[in-house]
Amino acid sequence: MKKLSLLLLILAIFPDMLSFPQDDSESKILKNFHSISSEEMMTWMEKLCSAEFNGRLTGTPEFVASATWVAGKLNEWGIKPAGDNGSYFQWFDHPYTVINDIGSLTLHITQIDGSVIDKSYNYPDDFYPGMNSGTGEITSEVVFAGYGITAPELNYDDYKNIDVKGKIVLVNRDAPYTDPRNPEYRKWVGYCYHQYKLENAVRHGAKGFLYIDGASANPNISYDPSIIVCGIGPTPLADIFAGLKISNKELTERMIKTLKPASFNTGKTLTIKANTTRHPEGKGCNVIGIIEGADPVLKKEVIIIGGHLDAVGKAGKVVNGALDNASGVVDIMGAAKAMAQSAIPLKRTVMFLFIGGEENGLLGSKLYVEKPVFTEEKTVTFINLDMVGNGNGLYVSAGSTYKGLLTYFERANANYIHRPFSSAAPVPGEFYGRPRSDGVIFSQNGYRTMSISTTDSYKKIYYHLPGDDPEAVTIEIMEDVAKMIYIGLIGMANDQVINY
Ligand SMILES: [Zn+2]
Repeated sequence: MKKLSLLLLILAIFPDMLSFPQDDSESKILKNFHSISSEEMMTWMEKLCSAEFNGRLTGTPEFVASATWVAGKLNEWGIKPAGDNGSYFQWFDHPYTVINDIGSLTLHITQIDGSVIDKSYNYPDDFYPGMNSGTGEITSEVVFAGYGITAPELNYDDYKNIDVKGKIVLVNRDAPYTDPRNPEYRKWVGYCYHQYKLENAVRHGAKGFLYIDGASANPNISYDPSIIVCGIGPTPLADIFAGLKISNKELTERMIKTLKPASFNTGKTLTIKANTTRHPEGKGCNVIGIIEGADPVLKKEVIIIGGHLDAVGKAGKVVNGALDNASGVVDIMGAAKAMAQSAIPLKRTVMFLFIGGEENGLLGSKLYVEKPVFTEEKTVTFINLDMVGNGNGLYVSAGSTYKGLLTYFERANANYIHRPFSSAAPVPGEFYGRPRSDGVIFSQNGYRTMSISTTDSYKKIYYHLPGDDPEAVTIEIMEDVAKMIYIGLIGMANDQVINY
């Protein structure tokens, strides 16, 4: 209401602001522009975050149900399928693990008199059940295994002077080499993955795996029934290092500085319990819809707007993934519906790509670039939306690389939306780090890639945590993002020549 009365006031003072061009196509564009509504977008947001979809973990029947729902909407709006065999879906195998209950993490503290006191930790602040854990229980000494890396070619082995057979390993995230802007980093990237670290721990005979990656949901596809996995937060980590004269932070800093392993037996004993069920039969998919271009030549070119549909599922409490990334999905849906129902013919083809398997290793985007519907050469750009619905401002990255593409969104905002707008500053040098978004997969495969974000977030962000619910997004800016996409994509699709 506040926003509306402010607008009326501004219009009273500056009536010229209402003077939209009277051109017929512009009025058609604006008719559907105004049909994009935050109320309707909120109903989609609530649907995607409902119990029916149970956190949209890729592979689960609930994820497939959410994909089917999105495809149903595309169909309802007259957007054509562009997936496998005339369907909306591009399928891939995707085993998954269901967390049946949160399990537990307990420290056993031996007193001077030999008696033992147990300290149990709390979910979710202190520990988070491993989303790739085997089922069962392990009680053992904890061995700090640095980054869990064995890299003979780099003369680096965290397992060199320790014996972890039958024990619990405690492992840092990433690698001791920390400069992703240096080509040297490329040699370490393969060792940064959770999958690798777990497999390497299993190879060395470990039976438990404590991951120092914050206590949050961390799905990935690696799995071995013989190892019990758990993420840990700051309190149990401090307890493991208690009395050792050095903290994990100090030790980690030393490893980064020296590039030398610093593994050791902590002398602390813990129990990890996990209760999981593995589903090797899981299937994941991308959902692909297109509005075909009407120009006989330009229709062979495509503009892709995409975002990941999956979230991190339910490990204990459900993580609904409202901001991450129902927000991106709903932004795209808002623009898609308005474009499909607009009477404006598009010259180029526009694709709406809802990606699966992002949270588990960017699997859906990797599949798409392997089996693209349009070749990379015929793709004008891939625009990624991930966590786009919390804040006041709009941000478009790659804007400095593809200034010409940026202008479509810049103009849409300047003419119709009027939000604070920023774009990426030039990035010096190359990035050799581990890809962490679908956009990077497209970019590495030669696609002109952009991403849209919201800035100045003012609601709390529950990243991969319970609480990432519809209340955690700012739906007003999502309406504006959908409007910016709608105007921007119509311009991009219809300009005879695009100056990148
Ligand atoms: Zn995300």
